[in-house]
Amino acid sequence: MTMTPAVRQFLTEAAPATPCLVVDLDVVTHNYCTLARALPLAEIFYAVKANPAPVILERLAAQGSSFDTASRGEIDLCLATGAPASRISFGNTIKKEADIAYAYARGVRLFAFDSDAELEKLSRAAPGAQVFCRILVETQGAEWPLSRKFGCAPAMAERLLASAPSLGLDPVGVSFHVGSQQTDCTQWDRAIAAVAGLFARLAEQGVYLSLINLGGGMPARYRDGIPPVEAYASAIGAALSEHFGAVLPRVIIEPGRSMVGNAGVLQSEVVLVSRKSDDEDVRWVYLDVGKFNGLAETMDEAIKYRIETSWDGAETGRVILAGPTCDSADILYERTPYHLPLELQAGDKVTFLSTGAYTSTYASIAFNGFSPLQTYCVSEGTVVALHDPARLAA
Ligand SMILES: *Cc1c(COP(=O)(O)O)cnc(C)c1O
Repeated sequence: MTMTPAVRQFLTEAAPATPCLVVDLDVVTHNYCTLARALPLAEIFYAVKANPAPVILERLAAQGSSFDTASRGEIDLCLATGAPASRISFGNTIKKEADIAYAYARGVRLFAFDSDAELEKLSRAAPGAQVFCRILVETQGAEWPLSRKFGCAPAMAERLLASAPSLGLDPVGVSFHVGSQQTDCTQWDRAIAAVAGLFARLAEQGVYLSLINLGGGMPARYRDGIPPVEAYASAIGAALSEHFGAVLPRVIIEPGRSMVGNAGVLQSEVVLVSRKSDDEDVRWVYLDVGKFNGLAETMDEAIKYRIETSWDGAETGRVILAGPTCDSADILYERTPYHLPLELQAGDKVTFLSTGAYTSTYASIAFNGFSPLQTYCVSEGTVVALHDPARLAA
């Protein structure tokens, strides 16, 4: 699938100013239902940061989704859908104490941590809350790895979880994240084994955990093919039964990219096509979208989007793709070979597929005077909402 009929119809009939993101809400619903069917043993907590457009959150809330949030602003967006606080997790391990207190006052009772100091904040600002510890896991195969910024060593997690009751907290479990755009579905196995080991060691100390949080990581389809959701679900299901046996704990999964990535299409326009010398064949194609107004994940050329133009099918040549701003870091693809039609010229539309995740809010406010990316959400051919990014920041 490249572009849904609803998105194509909207782009043709409304001809919105570019750059813009068009999200098909029916694809989001489809993604949710596919995962819920494939992995019925897990509760889905949508990772709001992937795309927090209110109508997307409303769609997911109506399907029964819960939400993984990282800030006061995301918690407010989720509550505004009418979802109860019991369906919200404050999953960021780096929180201001005032924000923990805010979430607690709104009724949130499930919090992540990965350090002594964060646990102390939780004990002061969220007394009695359920807390889970994020562990560091070594993984390969993620195209957008999450490095060592989050999580702690399992031995430290064991000590922290064992100390939680004395701080007036309820230690419920363990979380991890195998890295975003994880293209290898076997990567959950080792992490699940590590969590099962923690369950066993803590039980010996009289601390009985009940929750495993599998994090996010399932991919969206970019240039390369990806395994189907069912392959991830069966690898995860097999790992859970192998390491936990017949009696499974409460299982949470926090998909972001895989819920919304393929639901969005980002349309841009060519501003300039040029060459750097008369005897060079490689063309520089400058677009009205770049790293600072939607395509941040082209950082290090990590995420390689599929691109469509109105000249597709015609003869192509090698291009370097860059954004419109005056920052020389605003190059999308220089090392990665991209080939676009030779006919391409200023004013032509260039469409980035599978851009529903980590684009609209991952943009500067007005660097060089360029507006934040505008989002339109469509459903069965009707525009149901225009989402103004400035409203989220307010
Ligand atoms: C970003 C994030 C996710 C979502 O990750 P995806 O790779 O987009 O599925 C899930 N959990 C946490 C804690 C996150 O920070």
